[in-house]
Amino acid sequence: MSAWGLLAAVAAASAASGPAWDYTVDASAHARELTVVARFSRAVGSALTFDDGMGAFVEAFAMERGPHWLAIPGHGDQFIVPACERGPCRVRYRVRLLEAARTLDRRGVAHMNGEVVLAPPSSWLARPLRDAKPGRYRFHVTLPADVSFATGVFPTDDGGAYEAPTHDLEQAPYSAFGPLEPVRVRAPGGVVDVALASGEWSVPRQDVVDWVERSARAVAGYYGTFPVPRAQVIVLPGGRRPIGFGTTLGNGGASIIVWLGKGASRAHLERDWVLVHEMTHLGFPNVPRAQHWMEEGLATYVEPIARARAGLLAEGEVWRGLVQGLPNGQPRPGENGFDRTRRWGALYWGGAMYWFLADLQIRERTAGRRSVDDALRAIRAQGGTIAVSWPLARALETGDRATGTDVLTKLYARLGTEGSAPVDLDATWARLGVRPDAGGVRFDDGAPLAALRRAITDGREPAGDGRTE
Ligand SMILES: [Zn+2]
Repeated sequence: MSAWGLLAAVAAASAASGPAWDYTVDASAHARELTVVARFSRAVGSALTFDDGMGAFVEAFAMERGPHWLAIPGHGDQFIVPACERGPCRVRYRVRLLEAARTLDRRGVAHMNGEVVLAPPSSWLARPLRDAKPGRYRFHVTLPADVSFATGVFPTDDGGAYEAPTHDLEQAPYSAFGPLEPVRVRAPGGVVDVALASGEWSVPRQDVVDWVERSARAVAGYYGTFPVPRAQVIVLPGGRRPIGFGTTLGNGGASIIVWLGKGASRAHLERDWVLVHEMTHLGFPNVPRAQHWMEEGLATYVEPIARARAGLLAEGEVWRGLVQGLPNGQPRPGENGFDRTRRWGALYWGGAMYWFLADLQIRERTAGRRSVDDALRAIRAQGGTIAVSWPLARALETGDRATGTDVLTKLYARLGTEGSAPVDLDATWARLGVRPDAGGVRFDDGAPLAALRRAITDGREPAGDGRTE
């Protein structure tokens, strides 16, 4: 190899080890404007784009040509940069973020919540429209003193930037600029970075931090470890209920937004289920849209069990919730599987029915030695978290291997795609020794599956009891 050839090879190798798309972002006071320089280390195609509607708030877009910057006009949200078709290229631009958030007012694109601007990286990082090669994107954010930045995108090892696969930028985790107070909470196996909106709260800050810590510990207890190395939780004021609403988004990281209402008290936080539900989502991969009921059902089924095992919810409350909730998830005639329905009952409780029946079947077939816990822990251990997207079959096969059964795959075929007759829940309660009673439940410890029932809420194998052996 000639010296020139060697030099070219070294340059190619260093380009391959760095991110394919590399951004530096400078925020001005109040996050009014972001000034961005983007460098693409390979040919990425000429079309660069922003989230829907953001093009109107992008200005001074230019591509580097020798010592000059050449202005590029926008077409809607797209900017055509010929240099990026041929090889490495650099562009720069400004985004009027605050104005976009006030004008568009769309949560997935740009949105104001009090003084906080919610806007995922896809609304302010120009992304190549047709670069399908694998690679990473990385961004570094510089902030003025009055602005904090919070994002669920995974930080780089040195903590100086954020980085994820390029294909995840389009659906990147929740991110926010504004007056946010950062607090790091440790959970077994991971950390939760809390960004708490500044301002008046009805509870002391420490109560909010304790609530996040308690929820993270409960979810870590269920999965055996906190499901992701790092999650961002953004706590914002709003909503009429004490704990208004939560939403989780992964794809190259892990993020949760949760709204706390004016009336939230310590007691509300202590019995809250919303944050545990959202954190349960962190331990399962994104699956195709038709199968969202599997994700929601998982969180619906696991959340009370995780809280019971952590001592945050009484055993009777777990069963009362299932007795009252599961009838909403009964398959209906002509529905032909939950993949084909969009009704609320199927999404949450049809999904919970799946995980509940799967848990019973795995425990019965393995004489109590395996459970849905083992399946979910294996899926997480194989990398199946909210940070990635998997075909559902991959998750179910991974779970089935861990329990040595085919329960997850078979039950999915029955409830998801074929459709099923209603489940005989009364017979199931009788076998488990759960007796619905005046709005609550009583337990019958002489029932055939009483030990199995206790194992679900205490998380221990019913070994030595002899009943299920
Ligand atoms: Zn959910």
